[in-house]
Amino acid sequence: MRNNDAEAFGYRVLMRVLFGPTDGPPVWRERAACADSDPSLFDTAGRIAAAKKVCASCPVIDECRQDQLDWEATSPRFRANASGVVGGLTGADRRRIHYPARNAKDVA
Ligand code: SF4
Repeated sequence: MRNNDAEAFGYRVLMRVLFGPTDGPPVWRERAACADSDPSLFDTAGRIAAAKKVCASCPVIDECRQDQLDWEATSPRFRANASGVVGGLTGADRRRIHYPARNAKDVA
């Protein structure tokens, strides 16, 4: 992925987090720890730990995580392409939540 693509995707992920699926800000958004963060932080492979650190200190991590999981659950495409750090979880973390049977199969 080119840098500009990564930045654009990071921006989309952050906008999704901040404004939600209805394009109206969720009530918890006002307390988001990432409100003033660089959006690319949340979708840059080498910066996952830094993004997770921001999320770990976020007072609305539970609301953010649940909204993201709920949104991704609305479409197989959203679930399969989950990426970026949202709610303290990477895309891979969230795909493991969306596809628990697949995980069990991987472990077995
Ligand atoms: S949990 Fe992370 S991505 Fe979600 S609002 Fe807080 S800082 Fe932003």
